[in-house]
Amino acid sequence: MSEHLYADVILPLPLGDLFTYRIPPAFQSTIKVGVRVVVQFGARKFYSALVYKLHNNMPGGSFDLKDIDAILDQQPVIAPAQIILWEWMVGYYCCTLGEVYKAALPSALKLESQTKVSFNPNFEIPEDLPGEEEALLLMLRGHGQANIQSINKFLGKKSALPVIKLLLEKNAVLIEEKIEENYAAKLQPFLFLHPKLGTEQAIGEALASLQKAKKQAQLLEFFLSETLYHPEQKAQIAKKELLEKSGISEGVLRALLDKEYLHLQEIEVGRLDLSYEGEQRIFDLSEAQNQALAAIGEATAQAKPVLFHGVTSSGKTEVYIKLIEEQLKQGKQVLYLVPEIGLTTQLINRLKRAFGAQAGIYHSRFNDSERVEIWMNTLHEREQSFRIIVGARSAALLPFRNLGLIIVDEEHENSYKQFDPSPRYNARDVAVVLAQIHRAAVVLGSATPSFESYFNVKTGKYALVELTQRYQNISLPEIRIADVRQATKRKQMKSLLTPDLFESIEKALQNDEQVILFQNRRGFAPYLQCGTCGWIPKCTNCDVSLTYHKNMGAVTCHYCGHTQTMPANCPECHSTEIKTRGFGTEKIEEELSILYPDARIARMDMDSTRGKKAYERLIYQFESKQIDILVGTQMVTKGLDFDHVSVVGILNADQLLNYPDFRAFERSYQLIAQVSGRAGRKNKQGLVIIQTSQPEHPVLLDVVANDFTRLFNIQMNERKMFKYPPYFRLAKVVLKHKSRERLNMGANQLAIRLRKLFGFKVLGPEYPLVSRIQNWYQKEIWIKLERDQKLGHSKQQIMDEIKAVRALPNNSSLLVYADIDPM
Ligand code: ADP
Ligand code: ZN
Ligand code: ZN
Repeated sequence: MSEHLYADVILPLPLGDLFTYRIPPAFQSTIKVGVRVVVQFGARKFYSALVYKLHNNMPGGSFDLKDIDAILDQQPVIAPAQIILWEWMVGYYCCTLGEVYKAALPSALKLESQTKVSFNPNFEIPEDLPGEEEALLLMLRGHGQANIQSINKFLGKKSALPVIKLLLEKNAVLIEEKIEENYAAKLQPFLFLHPKLGTEQAIGEALASLQKAKKQAQLLEFFLSETLYHPEQKAQIAKKELLEKSGISEGVLRALLDKEYLHLQEIEVGRLDLSYEGEQRIFDLSEAQNQALAAIGEATAQAKPVLFHGVTSSGKTEVYIKLIEEQLKQGKQVLYLVPEIGLTTQLINRLKRAFGAQAGIYHSRFNDSERVEIWMNTLHEREQSFRIIVGARSAALLPFRNLGLIIVDEEHENSYKQFDPSPRYNARDVAVVLAQIHRAAVVLGSATPSFESYFNVKTGKYALVELTQRYQNISLPEIRIADVRQATKRKQMKSLLTPDLFESIEKALQNDEQVILFQNRRGFAPYLQCGTCGWIPKCTNCDVSLTYHKNMGAVTCHYCGHTQTMPANCPECHSTEIKTRGFGTEKIEEELSILYPDARIARMDMDSTRGKKAYERLIYQFESKQIDILVGTQMVTKGLDFDHVSVVGILNADQLLNYPDFRAFERSYQLIAQVSGRAGRKNKQGLVIIQTSQPEHPVLLDVVANDFTRLFNIQMNERKMFKYPPYFRLAKVVLKHKSRERLNMGANQLAIRLRKLFGFKVLGPEYPLVSRIQNWYQKEIWIKLERDQKLGHSKQQIMDEIKAVRALPNNSSLLVYADIDPM
């Protein structure tokens, strides 16, 4: 093996360059590209850096090179294909390798001096632990947590990272994020439904038999609702959790165990769920689905990404399952991206039904050791590994070794875009590049494709595959427009509901059918206003009005969380006449309970789904018809399947249509069509009612006619004329400063420089919709970039100008970043 003198490494820091370290002779034989090494950076800080390149070119400059202090891995912790992807991301999204490295690796794989380490209370210290490790563990057990810097001191070492790494692998210590979590013991008693209660009928009988034993019945019911019981799905809950949450005593549980209604078993926790014992089956496809499958195959053979445009409930997921099956037969890995973590639950159940334990979830809310385990399982072939990874955007950064297929479900969703921090990537677009690197198939699926993807079909970059009918030809819902202005004039409004919507809901309830109502504002009222002088309470930290939450009896800022009590009178004129303005989900919920006193009404928004399982519980309750009317924000529009919804109401379409953004019409169409898709699934045609004061609005007419292409064509003409995506690329430069004057100065300096380069294609600087968040003022400059070979160069010019402006006197505390393809 040839020897190398130097290693270029990536530090987990937002710094632009690679850093060069000397390789001491002792490490010559073990160092490799892709392993982590411990290096000193700055006066006293140590980091685990990633080896990027080995070479013999002495770096320029007269500074002293430092040595690498230790090597942490024998084998690379990243896949070779990842580096190619990372480099693409750096060029495309104007970020640094350090930022991508930081975003991709689970924290346990990128220890740094400030990382806090604590003793894992569930770890038993074995006799034969090496002295250094034992000493450290005992210290941590005594002191709670310590950061790596103080551990270095304690062990008298320059860097204790290698020791900590060994302890991490033994699961003896926990790091940072996990410390607050109640980290579960390795073995824990869990309760299951006894196999005897395998059918709904048996459960019914069991419950009936407990008529005299109220507590037992209560506990059994609680178990069922808590575990989201589905007949086909294995339901389990930790004993401790069940008793704590239900507040019912252990004795009652005993009785249920004795009756063999429940069943107790110790199971291993904190590890990946690699078991699945349910039945496995894959459906045969319909003819239309089979044609779609074949068309996807053909496009893939030509290495083309596929846009899979299929109306809601057309059976796209079943086609994906077939595609996955083919890949598994060839021993390939599959990545299945969904826009929200919340959507993983319904999907994973479906995939487990098809593929058993081969399907697993990865996302940022997992604890760190689980994430490391999935990371390693993705990187190395193991006997028991997930072959299908379902995840939100960060799953695209896993170290796939042998990827055969990527599915991007609901590809139009803007939650694929990471806003903050850098890298500000769009996981859908990253997926297309990742597939190219692996020569894998990539399918972007949606009932309402993004205009970008549809445009890529028009230019021949993507292939289009369509499913125009719902599975089994169940009809698409009837869509009606309800004129709010007219109904108001005629005094026909029932609170927030037009007569049409009011009556349709009433009819649905009479027929024992369910209703979904959509309003994209949470809280009770978006703002308050003094009825006398017009004063509006605003956040003290942000330039935005406070939202009234009646449940909390408070007003709160949706940007920074600042919360205060509801003002009793106006500070300007002392009037006590403070009025609520507009309406959010909370108010709708309240009004509905007056209009339909017998209906069971629930709300689904960020406020009502904060608890760990709250979201799943709501879905379960709605699925099992314990809820009649579900009121929600866009959370209810996303890919959920319900069987008994006959009416969907959109309470205020104007608010979507009037949003000041060049994508407002595209988004409105997508949101309305998506929420409409929840209506009338299996049994009969559903009804959608859109309330608006612009009944002739072209977008609404296109929604009613289900005419995506008309809307697309008209919008494309406008986008072309005004140089917006997809014809041009956008770069948004965001500037922030605590001082308004400094911000304006810096923003103007940058705009002048950018105009010299890009002329009239530079817009701004302007304040965004909210001009101050958490006391940071912000302005934006938008640059329209030509989609040609100069694109990379143009971005570099933008970054250079940002750097130059930041280096000017007075600008050192100016924050500036570029966001490519902002959403
Ligand atoms: P989409 O993903 O397009 O919204 P789904 O795949 O969820 O549609 O299909 C809608 C419903 O129809 C689901 O309940 C699904 O199980 C069922 N379905 C679709 N295709 C088939 C098939 N080939 N055989 C049996 N059921 C199917
Ligand atoms: Zn007033
Ligand atoms: Zn605020």
